[in-house]
Amino acid sequence: MTLGKNFRLPTDVKPIRYSAHLAPDLKAGIFEGRMELEVQLEKPRREIYLHAVGLEISRARARGAAKATAKLDAESETVTLEFEQDLPRGRLVLDIAWSGKFSPGLRGLYRAGPVAVTQFEAADARRVFPCFDEPAFKARWSIQLVGLPEGVKAIGNGPIIKDEKEPDGGRTVQFAETPPLSSYLIALCIGDLASSPPQKIRGGYEVRTWAVPQKQQLTAFGQEVACAVLPLLEDYFGQPYAYGKVDQVGVPDFEAGAMENAGCITYREVALLLDPKTAPLNVQKRVAEVITHELSHQWFGNLVTMVWWDDLWLNEAFATWMAYKIVDQWRPHWRVWMDFEVGKASALHLDALKSSHPIRAEVKNAEEAGESFDAITYEKGGAILRMIEGYLGEEKFREGIRLYMRKHREANATADDLWGALAESSGQPILELANGWIRQTGYPLVTVEDHAGKIVLKQQRFFADPSAQPEATKWLVPVVLRLSGGRELRVMLRSAEETVDTAERYEWVLGNVGARGFYRTAYDPELLRKMASALPQLRPEERMALVSDQWALVRAGVAKVDGFMHLLAGLREEEDHVVLDEVVGRLSFLEHRAIADQDRAPFQSWVRNLFAGVGADLSWEPRAGEDDERKLRRAAVLRALALVARDPEVIAAAGLRYQKLLAHPQAVDPNLLDVVVAVAARTADARRFEELKQRAATELDPAAKRRYLHALAMVEHPELVPRSVELALDDFVQMQDFASYLGTLLSNRATREAAWKLIQSRWDAVRKKGDSPMILRRLVEALGALPDRRHLEEVESFLAAHPIEAAKQATAQTLERLRMDVALRERLMPELHEWLARS
Ligand SMILES: [Zn+2]
Repeated sequence: MTLGKNFRLPTDVKPIRYSAHLAPDLKAGIFEGRMELEVQLEKPRREIYLHAVGLEISRARARGAAKATAKLDAESETVTLEFEQDLPRGRLVLDIAWSGKFSPGLRGLYRAGPVAVTQFEAADARRVFPCFDEPAFKARWSIQLVGLPEGVKAIGNGPIIKDEKEPDGGRTVQFAETPPLSSYLIALCIGDLASSPPQKIRGGYEVRTWAVPQKQQLTAFGQEVACAVLPLLEDYFGQPYAYGKVDQVGVPDFEAGAMENAGCITYREVALLLDPKTAPLNVQKRVAEVITHELSHQWFGNLVTMVWWDDLWLNEAFATWMAYKIVDQWRPHWRVWMDFEVGKASALHLDALKSSHPIRAEVKNAEEAGESFDAITYEKGGAILRMIEGYLGEEKFREGIRLYMRKHREANATADDLWGALAESSGQPILELANGWIRQTGYPLVTVEDHAGKIVLKQQRFFADPSAQPEATKWLVPVVLRLSGGRELRVMLRSAEETVDTAERYEWVLGNVGARGFYRTAYDPELLRKMASALPQLRPEERMALVSDQWALVRAGVAKVDGFMHLLAGLREEEDHVVLDEVVGRLSFLEHRAIADQDRAPFQSWVRNLFAGVGADLSWEPRAGEDDERKLRRAAVLRALALVARDPEVIAAAGLRYQKLLAHPQAVDPNLLDVVVAVAARTADARRFEELKQRAATELDPAAKRRYLHALAMVEHPELVPRSVELALDDFVQMQDFASYLGTLLSNRATREAAWKLIQSRWDAVRKKGDSPMILRRLVEALGALPDRRHLEEVESFLAAHPIEAAKQATAQTLERLRMDVALRERLMPELHEWLARS
């Protein structure tokens, strides 16, 4: 009998407590384990199923009962313990021994430099422990590490309650038993690590932040963030932190951004460690946001856990939203909700594809669960929660969350349990509203028209593809309008078209106040014209949404590009750096993908003229006492001038800053480092290439290291191209950076052909190096940077000939996006040519 890939464990057997001993051999990369596993049988049965993959089971029996034979099944990743007679109903202790190997990819138990570390989500605990590896099976875990060498640090989910030398010379470390946890939240880190000094939160549990010893001095910022936000989270949830201590560990090679293991949170180094003296503000904000995201999960996800992976969004959407909310409370002047808009924009972009998926989608197995970690789950989910919070009000929403926490603490829950709690606390019928957004793919385009002083609102599903057929999908859209006089109107748009009588004259009307709604807005031409001349009266997030929506309408073939260029030009003196970043981002896309080669120079000189005045005013050197906003605005404008317009004077000035930077790491404002190093890379010769490589090898600060590493993929000198491309497969580029390094090569006009050739001709090596589902997905997505129809055809046939099972969704989305971008390029090139001739 084969169980098949979609096999789910029967629910009449439940784990209660794992008492496990694990003996890892750090040098040989193998381990042995044994455990007593207490289970509850709801009815008598003869066989018990556990998950296991790559493990050899040497002993399996039930205490007081007969021995079992263990049968491994590769497809379902299970081991079946078959007993000679029925096991009785009730409590039972299984006694199991096994051995296994460290995993080659970045999951299971694997080696990352001097550290052995685990990564179990979604379903890789089974590579280390035979276990009930589905989130619904929460149990207590008591883990003992045996045979550890002297001197290595060992971190687990619970505090260490015993650390002793054994008579045979080995060392035993025992972690305190955990509260009930799903297997994907179990973690171990063993190796050469050093921490910040511990700090106590509210006189109770301790927080530590860890790194490999030479990066210990980079832990202070992450420690500060954790200690600041933990009390805020406890207050929000109305529940104390549950896991006895918090360890945050910077792991030298890591697949995702971070992982919220209970009490033992693991991070990619760049998401945790930084030097505040040289870190740009955006890096500091990102680190604070990731830390707060993971700490939010200690409640939302760890204390209350989804029943199955179809509600993964509930974990991730909530943590995404909560991180911004709490960081905003901690550092209001950072205005992180503006950064949230950037993430939301990528979700709106993805969700306009036909191959998008609903936030809550059917998930048949753990591999499909892996595919769900995308912008729909995180950013769209977070934006929907924000929209619902806006609709219910902050207080009622928080009461609902607290109620949900109280009811389901240490247990599992579904999305409907959350809606139930929110409905109970608010007295509002939230289910219909929420389900429309959670279960339907996509989102509406809300059209705002003026019909002789009355506002007509229409909704239809928005597609990025101009050839997509309209769909009758309907949402309950909480629309908030603002009239030019300042009055706000709330409308629950229920049908395809509704008329709003404002009883007030207006010049213009804004269709999405505060950009809180997860939809795009289009205006009739007259309203749009009036809005464009009223830009300073809009809030920054509203201006950003206007740019983002108008660009989406150009892509969708609804609006013409010259109107869009007019809008961008009107924002040249934009005071808000996030809006300016959006403008520069669009210009960069156009320069890269929509301008014919012979039009590049005129386009660049147009961009130069647009920003020359602002650039001269801001200059390169910060004034004494200058605020962050001005520094970041300078960074955006210089990026436009140096990297999009390729202004020779600005490039020369950037080159000088690079020389200064070599002499002294603090010689340049940290916010300008990205531009300065990118310019240095584009103008690099062989000597500078070595210099950048040397920097990438020796920088301790992970963001600096990453900056120099990616600079190596930005070179333009023809002689450097083969070296830059070959480096991708060299051990110099770590597995965690492999997809982003290749992505940078594919986005670089000078290197993209060679990089694409490398991927095709050395596919086996590429696949082996990217042997991790998440990295393969990112690799597929990186192919979307190729611009021409010829590329599209080659990518289509290549991915058809080399299908990637773990990236089916990413493949469909990348191909759809690529088809549209290629068609967009062909459509925009002549339009922009004409526009340049006129302007
Ligand atoms: Zn998360």
